[in-house]
Parts: sequence; C-alpha cells; structure tokens
Amino acid sequence: SDVDWSTDAIIERRDRYYAASQRAFVPYEKPLILKEGKGQYVWDELGNKLIDLLGMNLCISVGHAHPKIIAAVQRQVETLTHCTTMFHHPVPAHFAEELAATMPKGHDWVVHFTNSGTEAIDLALMMARTATGNADIVALRNSYHGATFGAQSVTGIANFRHPVGLLNHISFAAEPNQYRGAFGEGIDPYLQDLRDTIAYTTGGSLAAGLIEPVQGYGGIIPMPPGYLSQAFEIIREAGGLCIVDEVQSGFCKTGENMWGFESDGVVPDIVVMAKGIGNGIPLGAVVARKEVAEPMAGKFLFHTYGANPVACAAGRAVLEVIEEEDLLTNARVVGAALKQRLLELKDKYPLIGDVRGKGFMLAIELVKDRVTKEPATEATARIFEKTRENGLVVSKSGNYKNVLRMVPPLCLSMDDVDDVAESMDKSLSQGGA
Ligand code: PMP
Repeated sequence: SDVDWSTDAIIERRDRYYAASQRAFVPYEKPLILKEGKGQYVWDELGNKLIDLLGMNLCISVGHAHPKIIAAVQRQVETLTHCTTMFHHPVPAHFAEELAATMPKGHDWVVHFTNSGTEAIDLALMMARTATGNADIVALRNSYHGATFGAQSVTGIANFRHPVGLLNHISFAAEPNQYRGAFGEGIDPYLQDLRDTIAYTTGGSLAAGLIEPVQGYGGIIPMPPGYLSQAFEIIREAGGLCIVDEVQSGFCKTGENMWGFESDGVVPDIVVMAKGIGNGIPLGAVVARKEVAEPMAGKFLFHTYGANPVACAAGRAVLEVIEEEDLLTNARVVGAALKQRLLELKDKYPLIGDVRGKGFMLAIELVKDRVTKEPATEATARIFEKTRENGLVVSKSGNYKNVLRMVPPLCLSMDDVDDVAESMDKSLSQGGA
C-alpha cells in the first residue's frame, strides 16, 4: 500500500504510534526524513543531497546501494530467505570461515551469528562467565555496548543506562581519554586505575575485561598505543578473558587494519562485531577462540534470525567489496586528508578544542575555553543544526554532547573531503564559532 511521505504525516504517525523508548532519539530540531542513499550520499524527502558522514550510524560500511551487495541479497532472497540454524545452509558456513580468516593466525576461531551488536555483547559476556566460572566484568567508563539488560549494564554513559536494576558484578575503569580523561595524558595512570578497579571493586577474579578499541558514542576516543596490550595483561592476570567491541571500530574503519585491536598487536579472546558487517542488513557476530566458546556447548542458545542466509550473503559481499575496492587504503588516505582539513579548521576557530581519530573515525570537540576545556554544548547544538543545512550528516556525541563525530562509509572520496571541509567551515561560522 501507498506510503505518505509528507513531513507532517510522518511526524504525526511516529508521535502517535512509536513507544516513548523509540521516539526519544531525534537529534535535529526538524526531523531529517531520508528517502534514498547511493554510495556516500543520502537524499531527504525533498531531494536535498547530504554527505552521509555517519554511514547511517556505521551500518553502511561500503556505501549505500552498492551493486554487489544488492545482487548478493537479491539472489539469496529469491532462493531462500530464511532457514533457522536448526537447518544447514552453505552461505553462513562460508561466511563464518571467511570471518574467522580475518582474525590473528595461530588460533582456532569460531563464530556465533546474532541479529545485532547488543545480542553479540550479551553473548560475549555469557561466554566469558561460562568459560571462566567467574562473574566479574570490568568495562570502561564512557563506553557504549548496547541496549539490553546485559549490554546496558556494561555501558559506561549515564544517558544510556535506564533505572531498571541492571546486572551486578560490573565495574568500570577510567577510559584513557587523552583530551579530558580523569588522569590527563599518558596511559600509566589509566592502567593503574584498571588494576585498582579490579582490586577494590571486584572479587579479584574476572570473567572478562571489555574494551572498544576506539570508543564511538563516547566521542571517538581511540585507545592510545600500548593501552590495549597492557590492559589485556592486567585482565588476564586477574583470570579474565579479553573482549573487544569492534561494532564501530571494525571493518577497516580506523584505516589501519581490518580490526581496531590490530593496531596494538594484541590477540583478544572474543571479538564482537555488528553494524558494518552487513552494510545495513541486520547482523551481528561473536568471533571467539574455540576453547573459549566451547564450554557453552550442552545448552541451547538460539537466535532465530542468527546465521540468516540473506544477512550472511550481504556479509560475504561486504568482505569481497572491501578487498576488491581496497577500501582499507581509502579509509587511511582519505581519512588522513579529512583530518588535516579539520586540523586547519582548529587553527581558524578557537572553539575547536580537539581534532582526533584515525581513518574514518574522526571527531572535533568544541570547548568554550581551550584551557579549562569547558564543553561548548549549546554552540555544538547550533553548529550541528547548520551541518545539516550545509549538506552533512554528522552526529553529536560525547558525554557533554560537544563532539561532532564523523564515521563515513569506506567509499568517501578525496573530492568529498573538499565539500566536507567547506561545509564544516561554513557551519562553524554560521553557528557562531
Ligand atoms: N557496541 C558499540 C560500540 C555500538 O556502537 C553499538 C551500537 N551503537 C552496539 C555495541 C550495539 O549494537 P546494536 O545497536 O546493533 O545492538
């Protein structure tokens, strides 16, 4: 049946029929209604073109409407849209093999497909508790890991934690935020805080430590060099497994490697992924070392749509496209060029306190004063509105909502960099920077 595209009708229906929990997340004063996407661009219902610097919240990894993904999905939908994991199908099995092959050599990696990142995080926590027999989990402050009881419980940002009695046995260590972290620059005090958190707020024996190699919703906070490897040692000394949440930093987003954790040369025990894995088709996965996953045998754990052949066909095509189009190199080269342009804007606008990130995980943090680093939250809101008027989709992130986060699809081009820089420049000046 027909769809009513008029703005008022969409707002009205949404307000009337969406639950409050789903209505809450509207970033712009006037909602952005999206109609179409192609490559790194989206169009609103009036035909206005915007550069999608969010990849629709990182789900569009290799570009909107990529012909290879469309073909793979279409082929699979037409043949067999679904079979549950009770029945065998070659597509998810191939995809599991291909994902395992992206992990560090010398270990046996196994895969459990889920429907989302949240589910994958929940499963990773269960796996770690089962494998170790310990309950305590240490996560980082300023983290985001998902929406269910389990995944919310390890999320270290108050805005995402509902007062519903979240899980016990979760502790938080300070994130090594080099711009405004609790202990300033360097990694040693943060590693000490991790040790102290284990010593003073857990039973001393861990199930796991959980880390995003680059914190996403926290405002693009990359783990500084050396942090992951030393944190892993501390977690392992306490008997814990090392879980990395690659939901944002995976699939070449950092421009350095396929996975964010590779930048520090570590080998995790459990890797959680979602979003970019299916280029917008809902899918998540836990990739774990075989010996860590094995103790969960014997009881059913069943996601009806996990290992769905359509989603897995999309996933296989994503891996192929990344390889064929050398999108890792593109993220590194174009990301570096974009970061350079953002750094030039920092020279022009004192409001920009920090430009950070790598590859296609970039952010600018806005402050009223570069010395006190007082967050410029209101100015960020104004500038954020302007970015949209100037043809950009970015997000407002960070605990103080003073960070503009850019995590574009891997196909953003050099030509786009000029447009992004000019639009950002205009938005900053129009927003009163
Ligand atoms: N981990 C991270 C780092 C995320 O950014 C997200 C989603 N924003 C999740 C987990 C949860 O994934 P999902 O929304 O697919 O459940």
